[in-house]
Amino acid sequence: MNIRIGYGVDVHQLAENYPLWIGGLKIESDLGAVGHSDADVLLHAICDALLGAANLRDIGFHFSDTDPQFKGIDSKILLKEVYNKVNEKGYSVINIDSTVILEKPKLNPHIPAMQRAIAEILKIEEDAVSIKATTHEKVDSFGERRAIKAYAACLLEKK
Ligand SMILES: [Zn+2]
Repeated sequence: MNIRIGYGVDVHQLAENYPLWIGGLKIESDLGAVGHSDADVLLHAICDALLGAANLRDIGFHFSDTDPQFKGIDSKILLKEVYNKVNEKGYSVINIDSTVILEKPKLNPHIPAMQRAIAEILKIEEDAVSIKATTHEKVDSFGERRAIKAYAACLLEKK
């Protein structure tokens, strides 16, 4: 069996008057994530994990953050395109494991809907998409609600 591991990490600044998109969902929050796209930190970390496992560079290489065509883009579209690139190289996804670091709001109630959104794009079972949420215990930029961070790992299988 030819399997490959990948991991990705992403950070976005938090600020007022921005929406908070995480895992393909818009989350109700007083602070949102700042970015050129919709700034979905979890989908970006998953994109990098998939690209890394297939050795296809990184998300910034494929979708430049200065290119006007990606301004405000729904990151579900980016994840779909990444999935297609990985698929064209002959890989399918076995599973994803991820962690989102956010002081508040609590993400646990939203995790099943995020799992559904991601599983649908990657054509895997919801059970193959793990999303964990943790705070940063009020410490540093994440704990002080100045930033949000996500880590993702994945396994790909050569078809
Ligand atoms: Zn990002």
